[in-house]
Amino acid sequence: MRIYLENLSFTNKDINELQTKFCGIIESSYLCTNFIFMNDFGKLWKYLSNYKKNLVLVFIFNLLGAIFSFGMIALIIPFFNVLFDHTQQVHELPEVFVLSKDTLLLYCNYYLTLVIERWNESVALVFICLVLIGVTFLKDGFEYLGKYFNIPIVNGVPRDIYNIAYFKILDLPVFFFTNERKGDIMSRMSSDITVVRNSMSSFIDLIKNPLYILVYFIGIIIISYKMTLVVLLLLPFMGIITGRIGKSLKKATNRTQELQGDILVYLDETLSGLKVVKIFNGAKQMRNKFDERNYAYYREMNRANRKSSLAHPLTDFLIVTILSVAIYIGGNLVLAKDGGMSAEAFIAFILAFTQIASPAKSFTSAFYNIKQGAAGIDRIERIINAEAKIEEKDDAKSIESFNEAITFNNVTFGYNSEKTVLKNINLTIPKGKSIALVGQSGSGKTTIANLIPRFYEPTEGQILIDGIALPDYKLTDLRSLIGIVTQESLLFNDTVFNNIAFGIENPDREKVIEAAKLANAHNFIMEMENGYETNIGDQGAKLSGGQRQRLCIARAIMKNPQILILDEATSALDTESERLVQEALSNLMKDRTSLVIAHRLSTIKNSDNIVVLNEGRIVESGKHDELIELNGAYKRLHDLQLI
Ligand code: ADP
Ligand code: MG
Repeated sequence: MRIYLENLSFTNKDINELQTKFCGIIESSYLCTNFIFMNDFGKLWKYLSNYKKNLVLVFIFNLLGAIFSFGMIALIIPFFNVLFDHTQQVHELPEVFVLSKDTLLLYCNYYLTLVIERWNESVALVFICLVLIGVTFLKDGFEYLGKYFNIPIVNGVPRDIYNIAYFKILDLPVFFFTNERKGDIMSRMSSDITVVRNSMSSFIDLIKNPLYILVYFIGIIIISYKMTLVVLLLLPFMGIITGRIGKSLKKATNRTQELQGDILVYLDETLSGLKVVKIFNGAKQMRNKFDERNYAYYREMNRANRKSSLAHPLTDFLIVTILSVAIYIGGNLVLAKDGGMSAEAFIAFILAFTQIASPAKSFTSAFYNIKQGAAGIDRIERIINAEAKIEEKDDAKSIESFNEAITFNNVTFGYNSEKTVLKNINLTIPKGKSIALVGQSGSGKTTIANLIPRFYEPTEGQILIDGIALPDYKLTDLRSLIGIVTQESLLFNDTVFNNIAFGIENPDREKVIEAAKLANAHNFIMEMENGYETNIGDQGAKLSGGQRQRLCIARAIMKNPQILILDEATSALDTESERLVQEALSNLMKDRTSLVIAHRLSTIKNSDNIVVLNEGRIVESGKHDELIELNGAYKRLHDLQLI
């Protein structure tokens, strides 16, 4: 008994620890009843429910871990019994085994008596120590198994969310991805997933800690229900006191933060208005005002710091006072002999009780982590649950080939309601013909091209293929008709082969090579280190602009689309590679319907029809010679390029 009481001289640090721990007990019981938490938990459960088997295993192993961990503490009782020579002599085992404190003690004392009578007390201690090692081994083993089965949950949930979000991104229409949305999605997919991952690692605490608390609680009730009752009655006092002090501290820090904010705002205002301050000779006035704020901040900081300095000794004192009451009552129970508690049990009780506080504390912080995780999931779900969709009718028609023409019927369009980009566009692209779109940068050429695969929908008017409006066709069918080559060669960080065969299942090697040959790409591909198996780097970084473009063309040839859209496919190239690419393009355009957007008019001279666009309107159309003769917008563009 004396040994233990000597250990009761707390250091300041211990007290602080106790203080936070006791707060934890109160707070966690409060949180348990907090309805809002159920909401957060529900959000996580959607993703956790895929891991039911693991959850069950985590539960079982942590329960075993908790039981054995309590067993470690309970072993103190026989240990001290032997040490103080209190071991009851038992020579007969009870006839039936029931799981109760008394039977366990009987069993324990029976074997200890055996050992002591055969050898001596010291050997008995060795026995107890061996049992302790065994119990600890089991406890740690179970704890490890609990973690082992928890790890796939921690890493699996973020993985699932990544997958769901990524699939959704692939599913969302092009118009969903404005620039700010792209940034938003990137941060959702990085920082918010990290938040979710972190909160998942706390998730095990929500399972483990309540089990520990439960087992320990049952344990201390078994050791002494009277003492448990005493402690339970005192606990709220500790919680209330520490909670009060914490709250008042928080208020003080909030106030100092406000005042600091004031100073910063004032500083910012001064910096941006510095010219005015100088011209109007306002320095003195400004200085006085600044000093006023600075002083207020200083005063409040002093107050807050003094308060927090007082908080610690105050709580220390109160907690020791309350603890002393508990120890006094417990001590009396021991002294009263028939009070039902031995000195050994008392020590085990206090030890076990201090162990409860720790899981209570981490339970609380797990709560807050889960809350954050739920908030992260909320933000990610804004993407996952985004409603934007290109509508497809239930009775949409399939289309494998088209026979007559693509027609724009009075099409008006704007990316947003503020600005109309296309106005009353009427345009016909007959099958097998090549139509060219020319016009200044920003006149809406790319926009017209975007409407054909339904990346965007016209605000007014209709686009028809063979007299049927685009929304009446199946979207995938429509898109499989169309091939696009744009100015920015969009390639993936993959092999040459996979880039050319992109989107095709089980591509035929011969066909890929044929496409590359037609695209004037075969030669340079063969010169690369691994030929078709060479990785082309991020966005094709290992290739020149012309080479990239020829790969894009090979990809388009591979797809063999009926409708071809070339959006300034050669404008980023120098003359030499332009010639190679142009040749490749001519191969690609052969026997296809094409819409060619060209920056250099020389490349579209031979088109069947040239359409001149200006500020979203069609201003002229016709063959090259006719338009030159017309001496209008086209002629002006043409003359500009001659210079
Ligand atoms: P062109 O291809 O003829 O150079 P575009 O069709 O790309 O012109 O652009 C036409 C107009 O639409 C421009 O004023 C441009 O600023 C605007 N625009 C283009 N893309 C978008 C977009 N995604 N969101 C909003 N405005 C856009
Ligand atoms: Mg463009």
